[in-house]
Amino acid sequence: MLDDRVDPPEPGPGEVLVRPTRVAIGRDELGSQAAVGVPGRRFVGVIQRAVGDELRVGQRVVVKPHIRCGRCDLCRGGLGDHCREGVTIGSAERQGCLAELIAVPAENVVPVPDALDDDQAVFAWTLAGALHVAQLLRVDAKTYVTVLGDNATGLLCAQWLARLNASVRLLGSHPARFGLCEKWGVKHRNADDVGRRADQDAVIDCTGSAEGIALAMQLVRPRGTIVLRGGGPGRVDLAPIIQGEITLVGSRAGNLRDAVRALAERRVDVLNLISRRVRLLDVPDVLSSPPIEEQLQTLVEV
Ligand SMILES: [Zn+2]
Repeated sequence: MLDDRVDPPEPGPGEVLVRPTRVAIGRDELGSQAAVGVPGRRFVGVIQRAVGDELRVGQRVVVKPHIRCGRCDLCRGGLGDHCREGVTIGSAERQGCLAELIAVPAENVVPVPDALDDDQAVFAWTLAGALHVAQLLRVDAKTYVTVLGDNATGLLCAQWLARLNASVRLLGSHPARFGLCEKWGVKHRNADDVGRRADQDAVIDCTGSAEGIALAMQLVRPRGTIVLRGGGPGRVDLAPIIQGEITLVGSRAGNLRDAVRALAERRVDVLNLISRRVRLLDVPDVLSSPPIEEQLQTLVEV
């Protein structure tokens, strides 16, 4: 059952109180609750207590999970995404959204239009990451791109880049997810079946693993680009980066407003990422049970 020892959150200055209605959980978040207290970082909810003029009680919103301090040199210099004191919702430092209420800064909140239902809006932050990767790469029709990882981030990166006319392929390990790629017109292969010919203009690693980065370095062409989106890969031999004069780009930020607009305009399919639905009361069992290989995204109906 739910832990009722956690006090209801009290919004600080400039913060709003939100009641989550849908939360998306990926495999990487399963089994993590012991380390982070209240987990969960991607959600859609309804404002219960508002501040300022832009937001009102009852409004449906999505929330950027990275919270900046607003005071440090990076925040003041327009680099709030890389704040020195930044915290992330659903981490050890900040309560997550798998709760009945959560307090978040008003500046992190983006309203959801009526045309966009909760099941789609809940994936706004995941999509924002994919849009951000596409902006970093500036792909065109002649760009050969390989996406590593058939998790939700990898699948959305591939889906979005394919719409930009890039020659995109996704390397994964779950045959069941290749059906999604076919639906979206994205080429797909098993990661073990591809040649390592160092001929890709760009490789996007969404696995967050040392193996993923090692594979990316074998696939990218000299003077190509590797984008790292996700995870802490541990120790990696970076000698190929020097030899090939590869550009290595980290990616963590995203523009939530752009993602909400793309979803509202029906430019992206996110509903097929949902593999099961559970209730908030079932979450403790879900989080403590080992992840099932085929499950992509679990949607919590609060
Ligand atoms: Zn800061």
